[in-house]
Amino acid sequence: MSDPGPQSCVFCRIVRGEIPARKVYEDEEVLAFHDIRPQAPVHVLVIPKAHVPTLYEAAAAHERALGRMLACAGEIARAEGASDGFRVILNTGRVGNQEVYHVHMHILAGPAPLGPMLSRRN
Ligand code: AMP
Repeated sequence: MSDPGPQSCVFCRIVRGEIPARKVYEDEEVLAFHDIRPQAPVHVLVIPKAHVPTLYEAAAAHERALGRMLACAGEIARAEGASDGFRVILNTGRVGNQEVYHVHMHILAGPAPLGPMLSRRN
């Protein structure tokens, strides 16, 4: 997969209201919504509203949005019932297994502990 560009980018289309999403938070910089295929009881995606394909393209112009993504994570996690810890993941590029080429931060939480960060191969 690679950058589809803002016209056909699925997350840009959610920002523009062209496809539905279960939104949980929005401000002028970022949008948060439930992941369509949740991998934990709490699984929310936080995205910058502007189209930034991956962290490789992130630049000074995006600092405000990228900062907001982290700054609102705790508030979103609490609002979703995750008051005893959560994990954020930001997959990047092929090796990072990034599926959607619009920067997004996963917020994942139990209630049960999530286990190790990566499964061991040996
Ligand atoms: P990643 O592997 O980090 O690129 O994760 C992309 C995530 O986007 C996956 O967890 C998908 O389930 C999620 N996703 C893809 N399309 C949608 C959508 N239309 N609404 C909500 N989540 C989506």
